[in-house]
Amino acid sequence: MYAERQALKPTFIPLCAPHLEGREWDYVRDCLDSNWVSSVGPYVTRFEKAMAQRLGVRGAVATVNGTAALHVALLACGVAPDDEVLVPTLTFIAPANAVRYCGAWPVFIDVDPHTWQMDVALVERFLRDNCKPDDGRLVNRRSGRRVAALLPVHLLGHPVDMDPLVALAKSYGLKVVEDATESLGSLYKGRPAGTQGDVSCLSFNGNKLITTGGGGMIVTNDQALVDRTYYLTTQAKDDPLEYVHNEIGYNYRLTNLQAALGCAQLERMDGYIEKKRAIAARYREAFPNVPSQAEAPWARATFWLYTVLIDKVDRREALRRLELQGIQTRPLWQPMHQSPAQRGAEVIGGAVAESIHRRALSLPSSVGLSESDQQRVVAALHEILA
Ligand SMILES: *Cc1c(COP(=O)(O)O)cnc(C)c1O
Repeated sequence: MYAERQALKPTFIPLCAPHLEGREWDYVRDCLDSNWVSSVGPYVTRFEKAMAQRLGVRGAVATVNGTAALHVALLACGVAPDDEVLVPTLTFIAPANAVRYCGAWPVFIDVDPHTWQMDVALVERFLRDNCKPDDGRLVNRRSGRRVAALLPVHLLGHPVDMDPLVALAKSYGLKVVEDATESLGSLYKGRPAGTQGDVSCLSFNGNKLITTGGGGMIVTNDQALVDRTYYLTTQAKDDPLEYVHNEIGYNYRLTNLQAALGCAQLERMDGYIEKKRAIAARYREAFPNVPSQAEAPWARATFWLYTVLIDKVDRREALRRLELQGIQTRPLWQPMHQSPAQRGAEVIGGAVAESIHRRALSLPSSVGLSESDQQRVVAALHEILA
């Protein structure tokens, strides 16, 4: 009976699974054979160099995960206790938490209804109307706190409109820390996303475009920030022989084993991007009347997770019905201004994020998703929406 049921059960289609079909085994075996498994080793350096070259930036520092990268990037940009950092309210919680790790406060900004990215017009209005210069600093009139940085999150494989944001940061004397964890490989006006701000953070978690199991990276064009983030991620060691530390540092480095995976994954990344875009194109064609995240004319998105907005049925109901057919989908994250974990933080707007959140459903988007499996997803969702 059990075997029968198993045989009838359709194969499971995951939301976004890793794709490990390159030289991962060779490189990991090389680590084991050479006895270089820990956080110093040739693959760490090689992965950092290869990524910096791929993105056309000066330097990269590999970290234990993307959240740690964000934490250290914010510290290196001088974000201090009781400062404020502007973060989109529609995001995975990691960037908001990273701000809190610094003892600083996020100010949540609503998102654009088309691209779902941090609303640059709202940022501009907040800086102009809600803040005032004070002794060379920018201060939020309401909280009295210093506004230190902008933290745009390139959501779901689509870049944020960075040029006006960087211009605002310049004119107000703010740092820009980019969260490019979901949008590695996407392009902003022909340039790699995650290379416009002062410093940018990547993630190689299992569901990201490329994976090291868990891992992250800080990338920047500023050599001082390369040095500073390297220092902070390696326990702020000032004298490696005598173990002298002048500051509180962190054990945030990536291991050679993980970096070996990263090197192999990066070799395949261009193909992965095209796979994701092809998946998105097929979904778009299959659901011409179902709203989804728009691709701005200045963007080339990777569509990390292809996400639709469902109006006809409750999206929780759609999720459950797809799950019964072995199809894994996912809602977007609870907007940060509604998150109990982020209580007390200010929000500017929020209705757009709430409306997207109420209806959003991310569809299976694995690099390895076959066309026949995608057809199954399409057919199942068509039936639900009919
Ligand atoms: C994945 C992700 C991160 C980093 O996640 P880690 O699991 O710590 O690598 C940060 N921000 C966003 C928006 C993410 O999606």
